[in-house]
Amino acid sequence: MATHETASDKLVYDFAEGNKDLKDLLGGKGANLAEMTNLGLPVPPGFTITTEACKAYLATGREPDGLAAQIAAHLESLEREMGRRLGDPDDPLLVSVRSGAKFSMPGMMETVLNVGLNDRSVIGLSNQAGQNDRFAWDSYRRLIQMFGKTVCDVPGEEFEHALEDAKSAKGTRNDLDLDADDLRGLVDAYKKIFAKHTGREFPQEPREQLDLAIRAVFESWNAERAILYRRQERIPADLGTAVNVVAMVFGNLGPDSGTGVAFTRDPASGAQGIYGDYLANAQGEDVVAGIRNTVPLQELERLDKKSYDELLGIMARLEGHYQDLCDIEFTIERGKLWMLQTRVGKRTAAAAFVIAGQLVDEGLIDLDEALHRVNGAQLAQLMFPRFQLDHEFQPVAKGIGASPGAASGKVVFTSARAVELAAEGESVILVRRETNPDDLNGMIAAKGILTSRGGKTSHAAVVARGMGKTCVSGADELEVDVPGRRFTVAGKTVTEGDVVSIDGTTGKVYLGEVPVMPSEVVQYFEGSLDPEHIDNPLVRAVHRIMTHADARRRLAVRTNADTGADAARARRFGAQGIGLCRTEHMFLGDRRELVERLILARTGTEREDALAALLPLQREDFIEIFREMDGLPVTVRLIDPPLHEFLPPLEQLAVNVAVAQERGEDVAKEEALLAAVRRMHEENPMLGLRGVRLGLVIPGLFAMQVRAIAEAAVAVTEAGGHACPEIMVPLVGAVQELETVRAEAEKIIAEVVGDSGVEVLIGTMIEVPRAALTAGQIAEAAEFFSFGTNDLTQMGWGFSRDDVEGAFFWRYLELGIFGISPFESIDTDGVGRLVRIAAEEGRAARPGLKLGVCGEHGGDPDSVHFFHAVGLDYVSCSPFRVPVARLEAGRAVVETAGSDSR
Ligand code: PEP
Ligand code: MG
Repeated sequence: MATHETASDKLVYDFAEGNKDLKDLLGGKGANLAEMTNLGLPVPPGFTITTEACKAYLATGREPDGLAAQIAAHLESLEREMGRRLGDPDDPLLVSVRSGAKFSMPGMMETVLNVGLNDRSVIGLSNQAGQNDRFAWDSYRRLIQMFGKTVCDVPGEEFEHALEDAKSAKGTRNDLDLDADDLRGLVDAYKKIFAKHTGREFPQEPREQLDLAIRAVFESWNAERAILYRRQERIPADLGTAVNVVAMVFGNLGPDSGTGVAFTRDPASGAQGIYGDYLANAQGEDVVAGIRNTVPLQELERLDKKSYDELLGIMARLEGHYQDLCDIEFTIERGKLWMLQTRVGKRTAAAAFVIAGQLVDEGLIDLDEALHRVNGAQLAQLMFPRFQLDHEFQPVAKGIGASPGAASGKVVFTSARAVELAAEGESVILVRRETNPDDLNGMIAAKGILTSRGGKTSHAAVVARGMGKTCVSGADELEVDVPGRRFTVAGKTVTEGDVVSIDGTTGKVYLGEVPVMPSEVVQYFEGSLDPEHIDNPLVRAVHRIMTHADARRRLAVRTNADTGADAARARRFGAQGIGLCRTEHMFLGDRRELVERLILARTGTEREDALAALLPLQREDFIEIFREMDGLPVTVRLIDPPLHEFLPPLEQLAVNVAVAQERGEDVAKEEALLAAVRRMHEENPMLGLRGVRLGLVIPGLFAMQVRAIAEAAVAVTEAGGHACPEIMVPLVGAVQELETVRAEAEKIIAEVVGDSGVEVLIGTMIEVPRAALTAGQIAEAAEFFSFGTNDLTQMGWGFSRDDVEGAFFWRYLELGIFGISPFESIDTDGVGRLVRIAAEEGRAARPGLKLGVCGEHGGDPDSVHFFHAVGLDYVSCSPFRVPVARLEAGRAVVETAGSDSR
């Protein structure tokens, strides 16, 4: 083996060796601690064990070769720098061992503080702290508690009960009232709990403590809650976590010490200012766990002006350096400020837009970068409705608006019950005193989260914001009784199953269900708010960024709409035409009877009569849509689903016929219908007589639709409008199918259009894999392709689109066969490859071939980026997703232009 350490052998980095761009290797926390160290900020010294070491451990179940020696070397230099040895009985160095993955996973993984304390060094620590026995024993009991729970799986409640017992014995509810003797007693009690559960004494050897804690952090990557969180947040499962070993600084050394969390802007609204929580005489974990109520950070100015001013200076510096909202954890040890963490802070969707706009105003970033910093998922969230409040609804409590949105639902008190009720289709609000990582399942299942304790940085708040879920935290008027499954507020008792409404923007809590109103962002898109004259920072920021996205994007955005009303709304939302008008809905309602006549026709004349009756109705449908989309292209797809879908279900018909026969009624028509349904029954209707196949089998059906489209276009044009119809043939797999339809259509179009000036394009969907693979041939007969990625996914994977998502996708997601349903986000490797092949071969055969997509993927952010990359001309999606697609199409340009500075 080589004696020199090579780059890949290097498993431990001193803070001075890293920087913020090394997140893959050092995790987010480690990389940013290194960055702050290099900026000369007051960071306690320490080192980071890399994610590579973690991955190696997880793969083999043992520490990689060389790790122990590298830790020893770095520990030695840390000891030298601090002038103390780990766990030295007289003057101990203590360290914290903290997880830190590439992406922040709040509260999901482990931390152990005060490593290095034992029965002897606790005395040394007391001496170090000026004979502060209370502090020393409190630190020791915290170590046993965290170490026991994290490293050795001792049930955490046992420690909590022992702490509660100690407080009641003392007649207090505040842990600060426990004195050194009480805490010494508590250490004994904790040690007994430890021994009972582990069968061994609490380890006294400091290096053993350190090694076991590091191993526990590695292992916490695969803890159930971490796996669940990663799946929810779409964080890859194979990144591993880094481990930071940091010299301890103490916020619990007395009233001149403390700990806090700060944001450089409000992470909920984006407003400028200083936001955060401070807790005197406490360690960081106390803040995040919401164990004691914090004070607003501004209070620190009064408590310790020097540290406050220094903190503000550092915050401004960090914002300038990262050019973004930063969140910060700090500790003050006897008036000395220490930075424990910083990162580009999580924020709500609204704050993301507002802050991006502000940073442009401040000249810190340009509009491209602003566009890069927001995304379609955030925009979609801003389009959610909010509560419509009138005097009828009075809040019963007010907490902190921790994650915006409006949610109503039945109250539940446990994560398990939330999951149960949500599975039954109920909306639920999870109510807790405070949440902890074990509540994650319930938080995912709930519509909203309501806690009686904790601030904007509590676990509930941070996790809910990350998920985009409505959350009110710290509503301390609520007396929550989890075992009794109820809470009381304002003299009222609310029990499990009662409905409450929570407003995550204002923090208000209402009893009963409050009606909701649309978002301002939707009003803006609807055109009812003038962005230039509105005093709403969010709408202004959205307007500005959307305008830039529109200027930057190459992809056009159309909509899928088949009514005039949908078309009109989508146009207001920015749609540049219709990419898919499904004509099948036009055969429902009171037109069913005509369709039945068509299906039951015994002679050519009967069929022609039925079609003739449908023609004017269809013409009116198209006139309405062409008017709404005046001047813009409208792709009308000829009828696609199997005709039996327009008839009553077989079982129902059979029963009706039998009952009527029993009563001696005349059932000739029902019998004919029943026979038709039986005749048309298919084992695999999705692969059966539908789309172009139907058009080729039922004479006159497509011809009637083509005529209606052409006549409608002429009517609109003659009335002074400008109709731009594009006729689209569904389910084509072979060019001959398209050629046959085309030949007939062209004749009708020529006859109807005459010299009206109307131009009608004819193209096809590409939704059968064979069509994609023979796109070069098909392009000869098509002026445009529109990718039907719903069917292309169905037929590409062989997944029945109506069945599989509920049937087994959960297992595929669990196994990581795919990270997201391929019906939601395009499978770029497989189905996407078909798209790419068809686009290339289609264009090679017919330069200028117009290419679009109209499957559900047209409004999915990641898929939009893919369609941009393969060179489509447009995406088409449902009206509400049009703004999202516009934004993402702009982002796709900015990102491929290489201005990605993440
Ligand atoms: C498709 O298959 O992607 C498509 C748009 O058609 P439909 O969803 O109507 O089958
Ligand atoms: Mg289809």
